[in-house]
Amino acid sequence: MSNSDQLRIDFREHDLPPRWDGDRVEWSEWTALTEGNICPPPTSSERCEQCRSTAAPMSSRGTVITDYGPNVVPIGRARLIGRAQRSHKLVVFRCADCQHDTVWEIDTGQHWDLDPSDYTSAGSWSIG
Ligand SMILES: [Zn+2]
Repeated sequence: MSNSDQLRIDFREHDLPPRWDGDRVEWSEWTALTEGNICPPPTSSERCEQCRSTAAPMSSRGTVITDYGPNVVPIGRARLIGRAQRSHKLVVFRCADCQHDTVWEIDTGQHWDLDPSDYTSAGSWSIG
């Protein structure tokens, strides 16, 4: 790990994104991913895309809590679709070497590489 990597981690406001597209996320404790306790199965990529490490990553599960108060109007089509499911699951994999986080959105099967902006109180937003 380089000094600049360490600096980047130290400045993370939150250990994991506190929000996902605006909705609260409750993250589980970190657990070490070892063979035999992987459920759901890990991502297809077995190497960290940042540092190419093959070390077993740490994993945490996130539950997205969709709160729609009386004054909250869902914005955009994705929010309307999400409204039917009040929560969904995320799994984050953290590289043991460089601490890079990749989030797997189970419902959509999409993978997201987190960048420093995702660790602010605003949380992670999909762009586009
Ligand atoms: Zn890595």
